[in-house]
Amino acid sequence: MTTEENSLHLSEFIAGFWRMDAWALSTQQRLTLIETYLELGVTSMDHADIYGEYQCETLFGEALALKPSLRSKMQLISKCGIKPAFPSTPERYVNHYDSSKKHILASVDNSLTRLHTDHLDLLLIHRPDPLMNAEEVASTFEQLKQNGKVLNFGVSNFTASQFSLLESRLTQRGIKLATNQVELSPINMSSLTDGTLDQCQQLSISPMAWSCLGGGDIFSSDSLQAIRLREVLSKIAREHDTNDISQIIYAWVLALPSQPRPIIGSGNIARIRSAVASSQIRLDRQQWFSIWQASTGHSVA
Ligand code: NAP
Repeated sequence: MTTEENSLHLSEFIAGFWRMDAWALSTQQRLTLIETYLELGVTSMDHADIYGEYQCETLFGEALALKPSLRSKMQLISKCGIKPAFPSTPERYVNHYDSSKKHILASVDNSLTRLHTDHLDLLLIHRPDPLMNAEEVASTFEQLKQNGKVLNFGVSNFTASQFSLLESRLTQRGIKLATNQVELSPINMSSLTDGTLDQCQQLSISPMAWSCLGGGDIFSSDSLQAIRLREVLSKIAREHDTNDISQIIYAWVLALPSQPRPIIGSGNIARIRSAVASSQIRLDRQQWFSIWQASTGHSVA
């Protein structure tokens, strides 16, 4: 992904660290994982303040601190705006969103400390906040850009109109939203039909795609949809001489004209290698629509 105005370069695949605390890796193993990603050309690292109850950024930052020279070879992405009522946050009695200037600035400072870095390459507002004041967020982004703490900005899980609202306040400050990070998989195709990906294509920005494998459900769910999908994906995988249906799913995502960047969520290096290799697979239209049909349970008219 390249945005001329801000020179943001994200890799075709993105490394996702939401589940890093569950992988139970030593600091050295975390460093090896990061280095493997970089060797594979996956240079963009996706975080959020809240991942692992605020622990995942720390786990990553500890590994990066073992080899600080890696920082210049990667793009660090983080998110803010969700305030969950975690056991470690007893002052919160309800999950809520907070896109106020005060919270965004504090969250960025905390992310920088945890990640052992002095800047984020990309900051995303994690979820659309009904109390979001677009003018306030835009002025906060401007401040973060001016003080060099964040180089680029985007959103996550925004509808097209929510995206346009924030963009309208940023344009006058010479800032463009670089991406919308959205859920996208054969299990959840809503962004293909609700205007989200249309807007990305219209604006020539690549969306980032989260939970492309349905968070693992595609392999394990007993739903009729997942069963249909496994059958069709396995058939197409055989046609492409692979037994890894995740490769077919990533190829299905990469075929979209808005050029989504899939975020890999696995902590398993063999699965990560296989995911990246799927960029070589091209699905024809009948294969692509077979997956669509398996998802919806009916053919297109
Ligand atoms: P995902 O790729 O859909 O799911 C990953 C899960 O699937 C892991 O638990 C993985 O287990 C499992 N898996 C992968 N291959 C498998 C296989 N062959 N058989 C069985 N299980 C398999 O992605 P995700 O983790 O849900 O999301 C990816 C990233 O997107 C996150 O890390 C985060 O950065 C981002 N995200 C963003 C948002 C947002 O709101 N913006 C929301 C959710 C996620 P193993 O580790 O054992 O391989």
